[in-house]
Amino acid sequence: KKAEIRTTLNQLFEVISNNTSPAMRFIQTRVERMSVGWTQAGLKMRQSSNKTVSTQMRVLLYLGALAGSIGQHFEAMVERGGPLGELVQWADLSACLTILGQNLTFSTSQHHLHSLIGAAPGRGSCPIQRPLTFDLIYTDYHGLAHLQGAMGLAFQHYQCRFRILDSFGTEPAFNLGSYARRWGYKTLWGSWGLHPLQYMTMFPHTPDNSFLGFVSEEAVREEEREPDAYRKDRIAVVYGKQDYMWQGKSEYVDVISEELETHATVYQPPRHASNLPSFIRNHGLLTQKHFLQLLRRAKVFVGLGFPYEGPAPIEAVALGCVFLQPRFEPPHSSDNTDFYKGKPTTRQITSQHPYAKEVIGKPYVWTVDITNKTDVREAVKAILSTEVKPFTPREFTCEGMLERVHAYITHQNFSSKSVPAWPPRSALRVHLGPLGQSCVTVCHRYTLVCEPALFHHVNSPAAFTR
Ligand code: UDP
Repeated sequence: KKAEIRTTLNQLFEVISNNTSPAMRFIQTRVERMSVGWTQAGLKMRQSSNKTVSTQMRVLLYLGALAGSIGQHFEAMVERGGPLGELVQWADLSACLTILGQNLTFSTSQHHLHSLIGAAPGRGSCPIQRPLTFDLIYTDYHGLAHLQGAMGLAFQHYQCRFRILDSFGTEPAFNLGSYARRWGYKTLWGSWGLHPLQYMTMFPHTPDNSFLGFVSEEAVREEEREPDAYRKDRIAVVYGKQDYMWQGKSEYVDVISEELETHATVYQPPRHASNLPSFIRNHGLLTQKHFLQLLRRAKVFVGLGFPYEGPAPIEAVALGCVFLQPRFEPPHSSDNTDFYKGKPTTRQITSQHPYAKEVIGKPYVWTVDITNKTDVREAVKAILSTEVKPFTPREFTCEGMLERVHAYITHQNFSSKSVPAWPPRSALRVHLGPLGQSCVTVCHRYTLVCEPALFHHVNSPAAFTR
């Protein structure tokens, strides 16, 4: 059967609706709200289609973080200010795969997973391996362990079909167990020995992993925008759903509220007094729809330093806000920051949202030393006197994500050991960088990206002599 581009998400709704868990409800509401954008992008893709039609794949989405006791905790936090970024990504991935004509199965429990892919009970204690009926399995780090438990020996055999949603990425040094042990890169999460491109990140911060991304919601309705839709009030919205994120930030927030009426969306447990300063207008945790409505009226979205690299700043800029965020000096990393401890990466994070700073930048994104009140004050004044238009990088639109995921599905093949044939050689641009600069940095300067799949064209004495 061929994978035909779809122009509705009905197949997806059949699979996910009537779910009672808060996380699945979040996913369902998000997909419903964005369905117009997805179907329009599907239509466009169908019309312009020079895209090769491929065979339909049977795809399993196994949300390991929602299964078992970890899942119970995650679910409990969905409506109390816990992380939502992963759910945003799962929602958008499922919509994207549906439009691309693939055949989806969702699973959020280990029991269900066993019934889908588990070894059948055999005679005595020897289970019978069944052939895997899925061409692709998207999961997360928790899910990998569940898959290993369910599949037994078949786990290794089929591992080229796995794709891991891994927001912050896994560096190759952590990925190969023997290397990691030898050189001290061992962490809780790494050492699965997959191809580094099988890990899919939230932002395009490394060419070692695949950038999966998500869709910034406002990009969806750009065409139907009313002329008055972004009339900005003199208000700031502070980024941070839980009040611990505000600790030690009161002077910074004070400076902002000298100039702007300051709003928050901090989860407020029932019968608990708020720890927020009294001049803050706290709405409590909002539904995504109402949160975006608030951003639409706001002039500035204020980062407190945590959460790192979430979707909200991209949404804010897409709604015409300016994102003001802290610079980290020294940079945050697994050496000095609890959040990154044990994560399979040595990245040095120089601001709350490196993508926003480095790829979007001014006038949309301002990165400041928040301990320097004068700097903050000047940035706020400069922001107030600048008019910015809503902006969404193409990679965070439905079309951008469809294009990207289509390319991955068509070209990524981790069962073959031969040199990669995609992207094609015609995409290669070679730039000579100064000594000591990474490929990523040099390419970024030319608004290109570093692409390891093309290295084998360059890694020859002849190419170097040239
Ligand atoms: N969000 C929400 N209600 C709020 C604040 C945020 O629904 O009161 C949504 C927001 O639209 C974003 C998602 O939460 O898409 C994830 O936000 P964030 O950037 O905070 O990342 P996280 O740490 O939750 O992964």
